[in-house]
Amino acid sequence: MSDSPRTDLLSLEPEALHETLAAHFRGRGQPAYRARQVARWLYQGDAATWDEMTDLPLAERAALAEAFAIAEPVPERVAVSRDGTVKHLWRLHDGQLVESVLIPSPPRLTLCISSQAGCAMGCTFCATGWGGFSRQLTPGEIVGQFRASRRWAEREGMGPVTNIVYMGMGEPLANRKALHPSLTILNRGFGVGARRITVSTVGVVPGILELAERPEQFRLALSLHAPESELRRTLIPLEKRHPLPEVMEALERFNEAGGKRITFEYTMIRGVNDALELVPSLAELARRVGAFVNLIPYNPIPYREWEPSSPSRIREFAGALEARGVTVAVRETRGRDIDAACGQLRAHATEGG
Ligand code: SAH
Ligand code: SF4
Repeated sequence: MSDSPRTDLLSLEPEALHETLAAHFRGRGQPAYRARQVARWLYQGDAATWDEMTDLPLAERAALAEAFAIAEPVPERVAVSRDGTVKHLWRLHDGQLVESVLIPSPPRLTLCISSQAGCAMGCTFCATGWGGFSRQLTPGEIVGQFRASRRWAEREGMGPVTNIVYMGMGEPLANRKALHPSLTILNRGFGVGARRITVSTVGVVPGILELAERPEQFRLALSLHAPESELRRTLIPLEKRHPLPEVMEALERFNEAGGKRITFEYTMIRGVNDALELVPSLAELARRVGAFVNLIPYNPIPYREWEPSSPSRIREFAGALEARGVTVAVRETRGRDIDAACGQLRAHATEGG
């Protein structure tokens, strides 16, 4: 193997992948269809190593291995919940660990992926937030979670992954340099429909505006958690930099771009953000941008004494929102026994699409 860093094929957008491979094979006097063969092994196929690309001559496999890498994460641990939720802990090349979760809710199989190792946003209710930020993931490390999870799911008879949510570790809109290519690769490379891919953000306004500019209909989830700035500030430090009115304006721009759909995520913490008096302002925000509201019982973390709202309070809260014309879903907690519900890595699986 040469010392020069090898290009990670999984980090390239489909067009760049084709060009890179075409140039490689041209340089070796190989026919042009070789590039398509490799792309097929990467996107439709399951090959984890060059040697599995059995329709390529041995010498070509060796040359590919010299020039390129497939930066898929390596499974460190897998935990399967009684309810069928599967959590993977992935080891990246430098030893960083990130998580992804497969959430079956037939006919869908949703994959929740990480966009950063850790997170710098410091939300007070989130275990990842308390852990701090380690580093950005590359596009290949993001889509690699999909590729490796898809392989696992198919081998275990879970069927194809139908939906992807960026709700694992990290704030995807704080890693736009990798987020944008990863969306393109999942959509145009792996063929996952844009409307089946949801980017979840705590309210990074420039990132929301960038997403609005994209022609594809990726979905957006705003982690709202409080309908009023003052309360929201106590949960989400970013609220100081991008206050709710500014976030709402960005969401309106997102809507104006057309054909897109917004969800509000609202984690219900007993006595913190579950007062029925908050319902009117929450309903108003939801109606303003046509958002669907997901109520999620808070999942306790070691750093806070908080508890989830009671099931009856969640039902009341949901009923009051519905009475104001808002579409609401109450998320069940999935994978609690394997700690897949560790905050961000929880069910968002029954979402439409
Ligand atoms: N950083 C992005 C995406 C990852 S977090 C974001 O915040 O949107 C994914 C979801 O899990 C967010 O809606 C987040 O608010 C929620 N979450 C984090 N900690 C939680 C906890 N302890 N209980 C319930 N939901 C939690
Ligand atoms: Fe980061 Fe999202 Fe957790 Fe906030 S809720 S700390 S943005 S992962």
